[in-house]
Amino acid sequence: MRFDILTLFPEMFEGFLSSSMIKRAIDRDVITASIINFREYSTNKHRTVDDTPYGGGGGMVLKPEPLFRAVEDLTQNEPVRPPVLMMSPQGTPFTQKKAEELAQNHRLILLCGHYEGFDERIRQHLVDEEISIGDYVLTGGELPAMVLMDSISRLVPGVLGNESSAKTDSHSTGLLEYPQYTRPLEFRGWKVPDVLLSGHHAEIDRWRRYQSLKRTLERRPDLLERVDLTEEERGWLRELKQGHRNG
Ligand code: SAM
Repeated sequence: MRFDILTLFPEMFEGFLSSSMIKRAIDRDVITASIINFREYSTNKHRTVDDTPYGGGGGMVLKPEPLFRAVEDLTQNEPVRPPVLMMSPQGTPFTQKKAEELAQNHRLILLCGHYEGFDERIRQHLVDEEISIGDYVLTGGELPAMVLMDSISRLVPGVLGNESSAKTDSHSTGLLEYPQYTRPLEFRGWKVPDVLLSGHHAEIDRWRRYQSLKRTLERRPDLLERVDLTEEERGWLRELKQGHRNG
């Protein structure tokens, strides 16, 4: 999978691309990241990429020409243009489901805004989708682009050492993940639940599923409306809700 990231601050990606799982995936050629300073696509003498807004008001707006030229240059040999995603607080909220959908592409182009954001014609005529990482405003689209690249990359086969861990992560199953434990067996008097030591895999799976439901009910009951449950699981939920009501 290839990511092309168009930014005015390429140096912000250095630490991200040279650490941990992302670095390993790049070293093993499972993913490719190309960080492009779109200032290079500005044609005027001073390489300007922004200008004051028509109609007045503060701040600077990113001009259309450099971004159009950059995307057209990067995709000239592609028979079908890969999705162009604009990082934007006005966009579709980014979720695990959206990450799974985007991970189906072989290439993604991410546009990082800055200052007051983009000229509207970039939204209308260059971009396939605007993506927001949350209801708050950042100074630029670089952190959102890293968030997208990180969460999408770990869904690409070969990026994580253990593929099954992505399948049980919070949100992948529609629920929050069950509690996890590792050595020591007892720490300051707090013991690991007995069932995890039983070696009985069916019992462990049942316990984990119950804990996932319990945790989701306690922390994110809104998620339960969208998840498919068995008859037994619906029974557990009824009991848990009853328990909540009785304190
Ligand atoms: N004036 C713009 C508005 O109200 O929609 C906000 C511009 S913001 C200061 C600068 C850039 O940061 C945006 O163009 C976008 O690329 C990025 N950005 C800020 N918050 C974001 C968010 N929550 N999700 C994704 N990108 C964001």
